[in-house]
Amino acid sequence: MRKHDVVIVGSGLAGLRAAIEMAGRVDVAVVTKVYPSRSHSGAAQGGVAAAMANSSEDSVESHFFDTVKGSDYLGDQDAIEMMTKDAPVTITELEKMGCVFSRDEQGRIAQREFGGHSHPRACYAADRTGHALLHTLFEQSMKYKKNITFYSEFYLLTLIMEEGTARGITMMNIKNGDVEVIHAKTVLFATGGYGRAFKITSNAFACTGDGIMTAYRAGVPVEDMEFVQFHPTGLYGQGILMSEACRGEGGYLLNGKGERFMEKYAKSKMELAPRDIVSRAEQTEINEGRGIDGKDFINLELRHLGREKILERLPQIRQLAIDFLGVDCIDHPIPIQPTAHYSMGGIPVDVDCHVITDAEKTKVPGFYAAGECACVSVHGANRLGTNSLLDASVFGRRAGKAALEFTLKAKHEKISEADEMRKAKKRLDDLLVTPGTESANDIRTELKETMSTHVGVYRTEEGLRFAQGKLKALRHRFKNVRVTDKGKLFNTEIIEALELSNMLEYSEVIVAGAMARKESRGGHARVDYPKRDDVNFLRHTLAHRIGDGAVRLKYKPVSITKYQPEERKY
Ligand SMILES: Cc1cc2nc3c(=O)[nH]c(=O)nc-3n(C[C@H](O)[C@H](O)[C@H](O)COP(=O)(O)OP(=O)(O)OC[C@H]3O[C@@H](n4cnc5c(N)ncnc54)[C@H](O)[C@@H]3O)c2cc1C
Repeated sequence: MRKHDVVIVGSGLAGLRAAIEMAGRVDVAVVTKVYPSRSHSGAAQGGVAAAMANSSEDSVESHFFDTVKGSDYLGDQDAIEMMTKDAPVTITELEKMGCVFSRDEQGRIAQREFGGHSHPRACYAADRTGHALLHTLFEQSMKYKKNITFYSEFYLLTLIMEEGTARGITMMNIKNGDVEVIHAKTVLFATGGYGRAFKITSNAFACTGDGIMTAYRAGVPVEDMEFVQFHPTGLYGQGILMSEACRGEGGYLLNGKGERFMEKYAKSKMELAPRDIVSRAEQTEINEGRGIDGKDFINLELRHLGREKILERLPQIRQLAIDFLGVDCIDHPIPIQPTAHYSMGGIPVDVDCHVITDAEKTKVPGFYAAGECACVSVHGANRLGTNSLLDASVFGRRAGKAALEFTLKAKHEKISEADEMRKAKKRLDDLLVTPGTESANDIRTELKETMSTHVGVYRTEEGLRFAQGKLKALRHRFKNVRVTDKGKLFNTEIIEALELSNMLEYSEVIVAGAMARKESRGGHARVDYPKRDDVNFLRHTLAHRIGDGAVRLKYKPVSITKYQPEERKY
């Protein structure tokens, strides 16, 4: 058994930022299934939001309001106010740590336009902002080599919860298959999002909601899981992201008739309306036969920006479209479609990232969560672009601070190692020992197809009901899944099976929440209930796991401090 003061699971922006906050004061372990610099944060492209002083018209207040409105009034306003206030200092701090941001003519951190923001406030490093930020934090964490122990390529199996408090985790060493326990005073999850359950997604292979489902299985409810963001510009057929920065820099969208159709849907903001609105507009054009050549895609037009600007501001975008579709955006429009991109739901936490379980904010002692796996909720029903790197940085730091305070006063509570090992090994044995006949690949393909077709940009009662039945059947088939590689060394087949079990389970939670939410709000659009219904649904969903994995829904109120809900128009 290994012992640390704190165990952080996840080495993306949120996990690393928290680790740096605590390093030197307590002994920190960082567990990650991929090498730290391969965390999905590194794929972020367009920018990170903050009302810096560049524009005299911009203000923290305006960022605060834009985020509330963007969230379709489901975001918790106390948390949003805190995040937007903390944003400028967070950027300056990251810059001082060594992040190389792009510059404007006056030498200040450059800022570009982004969807749903009233002013240019996306700070960026070309179109590789996440890469620049992640490497800065990883570099900084190296300074604390003596205080931070990295467990790279270790897979989280279970959260150790005894007497209602978090006391550590179990994990599998991917390199040799060994199962180990980390006994800790404090556990912090920063395990990222859950976009991989969809066929078309911008998310990395690792975004399979592992931390969220591990907490859920340990008895913690999960919040607002039905809210999944579809980004309007995924590379056609692939889902790979063509950053919103393309539109921030002046790119626009055309349908099969050559029309800039956004005029019909968001006259003032056009292509820079929030993502839920642009994705629905695209899907409507496609559904009504106005895709390019009558097919299921739209064109992203960048040619008018010119070669020089594309090479300076959007070099990665250009290369991705060349590599995956053979399209050079200097000479041709890029075929795109909506792609599952961001997880608004997650583990419920308070503004200090302490995990809470109900409307009364009852805390789980010793358990914290930050970044995309957490639901603070600063994004409500729809996240604005560039607010997520901000969320991960701001709340990564806040989580670090709060968890440090807790840890300094805490001690290692007793755990029964043998029981915990047994539970963890059972998860593996269920897969390794059972002589199954079902193919994991088939189950995964059917899952993704089902989620994209029936739980995508538009949802209906009928589609959701179908998905519910299908998912139940898939989960049943998964019990009989065949893992052919019985070896211990780098057994990626078993990791993929564990990830699939998480995807199956959270997909059922998404569907349960979506069926019960008989309204349209942000990323959740019901064709049969096209209006937002504040009387019945201005509330967060809390899904509890009962019995053999059935979902029971409860709700909790939204924190509204300043801005009363009004109709959302752009
Ligand atoms: C293509 C793309 C572009 C984006 N662009 C932007 C942008 O421009 N601006 C913006 O604000 N946001 C953007 N986002 C969103 C943003 O990047 C993410 O929300 C944010 O980086 C999440 O950070 P995180 O630290 O919470 O998680 P991640 O960076 O996803 O890290 C998760 C960590 O958890 C670990 N982990 C997960 N499961 C396990 C397990 N079972 N065992 C052990 N470790 C585990 C992983 O190894 C990883 O280290 C983008 C997202 C994508 C997909």
